[in-house]
Amino acid sequence: MSADADVDVVIVGGGPAGLLLASELRLGGADPVVLERLPAPTGLSKALGLLGRIVQTLDYRGLLERFDAGFIPVAAYSRFAHLGGIPLDVGRLIGAAPPGHYPAPVPARQAQVEQVLEGRARELGVDLRRGHELVGLSQDPDAVTAEVAGPDGVYRLRARYLVGCDGAHSLVRKQAGIGFPGTPPTHVLRLGDVTLPETDPERVPVGILRTATGLFTVVPLGGDVHRVVVSEWSQPPEHVDRDTPSTLEELRAAVRRVAGIDLEMRQPRWLSRFTDAARQADRYRAGRVLLAGDAAHIQLPAGGPGMSNALQDVVNLGWKLAAQVKGWAPAGLLDTYHGERHPAAERMLSFVRAQGVLLSPGEHVTALRQLMSELLTHEQTLRYVVDRLLGLDVRYQLAGDGASAHPLVGGWAPDLPLRADGGDTRLGMLMHGARPVLLDLSGDGWLRAAAAGWTDRLQMTVARSDEPLDGILVRPDGYVAWAAAAGDHNTDGLRQALQTWFGAAG
Ligand SMILES: Cc1cc2nc3c(=O)[nH]c(=O)nc-3n(C[C@H](O)[C@H](O)[C@H](O)COP(=O)(O)OP(=O)(O)OC[C@H]3O[C@@H](n4cnc5c(N)ncnc54)[C@H](O)[C@@H]3O)c2cc1C
Repeated sequence: MSADADVDVVIVGGGPAGLLLASELRLGGADPVVLERLPAPTGLSKALGLLGRIVQTLDYRGLLERFDAGFIPVAAYSRFAHLGGIPLDVGRLIGAAPPGHYPAPVPARQAQVEQVLEGRARELGVDLRRGHELVGLSQDPDAVTAEVAGPDGVYRLRARYLVGCDGAHSLVRKQAGIGFPGTPPTHVLRLGDVTLPETDPERVPVGILRTATGLFTVVPLGGDVHRVVVSEWSQPPEHVDRDTPSTLEELRAAVRRVAGIDLEMRQPRWLSRFTDAARQADRYRAGRVLLAGDAAHIQLPAGGPGMSNALQDVVNLGWKLAAQVKGWAPAGLLDTYHGERHPAAERMLSFVRAQGVLLSPGEHVTALRQLMSELLTHEQTLRYVVDRLLGLDVRYQLAGDGASAHPLVGGWAPDLPLRADGGDTRLGMLMHGARPVLLDLSGDGWLRAAAAGWTDRLQMTVARSDEPLDGILVRPDGYVAWAAAAGDHNTDGLRQALQTWFGAAG
């Protein structure tokens, strides 16, 4: 830590992004402080589950077994996956996909995800300050100064870096002068987690109902509690005073207007409104200030991309920022965070906007949905859409990822079954500590010799695998930085990748 700073990193926001980032930084050897304005968790959940790439990512950190909601059989995937309400028959793809390509969905609500991530962060010794709100910030060449309103008054905290994980209305984004361009809201959606005394499927259809004026959705949350969501296209967002608290009567009236049902709803646990605005920070870094999660991108929760992308942002950022504060980051490493995650979110926003169109009313849209449904009977189209929905198509343009690079480079590292001296294992088990992994599968030890100068930053594992590979270098976020086919003694390529990602040889 510099003599001028109190802490390595201040993380603003103890939601999913802030909590996971704190653990990633601790695993990388940095000391973060998390500021969370809420004195205690609310227990409420916006997101209702984890799907796709983020499930694989949490598995690579050994965190999946902490979710006690159980796992949904992969074959039941189709219950969760849809494209703007058009069901996606994921089951049809599973047989033809490599093992583990479609990880089982985890039905963990956001409150449980936050509980698990907070437990992990505390185990790792993170200083999590609840009831502490960021009220201002400034930066100079050496540090960022956070002005914090805590239970005992306002105080200042100087940090080498500050990350805004403070959600859609991010104060960090505003104070850092980062723009948030995108598409404005076209309509308002109302939500209620309520008790439904009557759930006759004839009258209250579970799933998505498109009507002439909007959408009506009922999602069972367990027992007689349901999430009711109504989107009303006839009501432009400017007609709704978003500062007025939502009421059950407002939700009931919207259901009546959109679905023509007089729905009895009781005991609201959570009432809210949101929109289909889709915006993205124009840069994820301004000097010593960075953004992640909803602070960096907002969108309609169609297909549930928000929490998943927030968590993937911070797994990408954590090891790079830790390397920066620990002093071994090669030049430009921290900027690859924007370089990789900004395009990934841009692509996600475009996909969500397309889903928003498919969910809108009107006969033209019905015709488009029909066309999409027909296209989705083709396996290749179905695979493309499902992989995109689940974030399984994310690839990064990594240095050395050219025509001559191994096809694995830039993509997610497959969870290779391995035979090692200590017994059978798999690649994902080696990733729990968030260190880069160099897997030597060559049998003749040439990788160990080539990487000798990096052993202080790498976890080197000698193993045997049935894959035709001599070795693979995996970044802490689970993406492949380098790989060599069996018999390809590409020493120069390996040393170049090590230098690019982990700095000069020691
Ligand atoms: C109705 C709805 C349904 C959704 N469903 C899904 C889904 O099924 N799947 C999915 O993946 N995503 C879903 N999402 C999106 C998901 O909830 C968000 O993407 C996710 O919460 C983002 O996490 P975050 O940590 O970036 O931000 P947040 O969860 O918003 O956390 C930000 C935290 O920062 C704190 N904070 C804010 N300002 C300050 C400050 N100045 N000082 C200190 N603390 C501060 C807040 O109190 C909060 O705890 C849904 C969203 C909505 C609205």
